[in-house]
Amino acid sequence: MFKAFLIKYAEIAIKGKNRYIFEDALVDQIRHVLKEVDGEFRVVKERGRIYVYAESEFDYDETVEALKRVFGIFGICPTVVLKDQGYEALSKEVVSYVKNMYGDREMTFKMDVRRVKKSYPMTSMEMNAELGGDILDACPNMKVDVHEPDVLIHVELRDKIYLYSEVIPGPGGMPVGTNGKAMLLLSGGIDSPVAGYMIAKRGVKIDAVYFHAPPYTSERAKQKVVDLAKLVAKYSGPIHLHVVNFTDIQLYIYEKCPHEELTIIMRRYMMKIAEAFAKQDGCLGLITGESIGQVASQTMHSLAATNEVCTMPVFRPVIGFDKQEIVDVALKINTYETSILPFEDCCTIFVAKHPVTKPNLKVIKRSEENLQEKIDEMMAEAIETAETIVCE
Ligand code: ATP
Ligand code: MG
Repeated sequence: MFKAFLIKYAEIAIKGKNRYIFEDALVDQIRHVLKEVDGEFRVVKERGRIYVYAESEFDYDETVEALKRVFGIFGICPTVVLKDQGYEALSKEVVSYVKNMYGDREMTFKMDVRRVKKSYPMTSMEMNAELGGDILDACPNMKVDVHEPDVLIHVELRDKIYLYSEVIPGPGGMPVGTNGKAMLLLSGGIDSPVAGYMIAKRGVKIDAVYFHAPPYTSERAKQKVVDLAKLVAKYSGPIHLHVVNFTDIQLYIYEKCPHEELTIIMRRYMMKIAEAFAKQDGCLGLITGESIGQVASQTMHSLAATNEVCTMPVFRPVIGFDKQEIVDVALKINTYETSILPFEDCCTIFVAKHPVTKPNLKVIKRSEENLQEKIDEMMAEAIETAETIVCE
């Protein structure tokens, strides 16, 4: 029945000269997600609207699922597209559409006819009354309610006639690419994929960096991170994932610094290296999955100590979330199952029994002096030898 989808997006946010940037990015991202779907599609901008036209047989459910992952979409309206063949023909189509969609369920409706093509012989008001009357005659289960109808039946009279009533909620947010780029510190855990998703939802393109510590962390742990990046990429578009070999730096810190400060010092170097990649890739900020108080390295003191090395803004979108709230998002975006696979993570291997929870920055900096001899060289080497994987 459906040959097209009308895409609804928030227009208020994009009035003015930025509108075309928003719309073009939305069109690009829709095309991108539809590449994976069975069927040929044409995505077009038409007078303040975006339509997805099916040009072949297509899988309806897959199409809707794909569109539900495009940030910037507020509603997906499966639409019947009709040729203008006069009022009688239209009325028949509308009645059969209503019967198809709603069967004999007891419901209320309201007509919403818009005459964009002004040459159409009847006014919108007349059409509302006539079509509404025809539905009432043909469907005894339907009643009119102009204030709070269960369904609003839209008929738009353009060069063709567009008929729709269902609005499937999209994810909201802004189209990816309309708001710069940021570098996600992506581990194999639950929190960082959620953090990346949340920032991408605001229109930010993301790249990622993963700190790998072979042989302490396995190839399977790395594969898990690649898989997570691919899952996030279903929403954000392709992610360039830099896999950094962090083993030597970790061992060096382990050898030279007090063990209870290990995690904090290690995290400071992670941030520094992530920032170097961020600069290379033209990113304007870093993203982490930190949440206040979740673990010793995420107390306010620890966060402050970690943050101190960064010159770029660090975005921590789950900072105020409880674990369960993060898990709820992970379940919604389908990263949870992968995140809980039991592979070791580079932080857990070197973690001290009693890590400091209130690190003193002066003390930490003094310990870092023990690293002076080799650390710069090691960081440069880690950055240079990183492997970049395009995850899409
Ligand atoms: P997550 O669930 O995201 O792994 P976590 O609760 O395990 O988080 P930490 O291990 O303290 O918390 O890490 C805090 C943040 O630091 C992570 O959310 C992530 O952004 C970053 N991070 C930690 N380990 C790595 C790693 N090996 N590679 C890249 N980023 C990391
Ligand atoms: Mg982790």
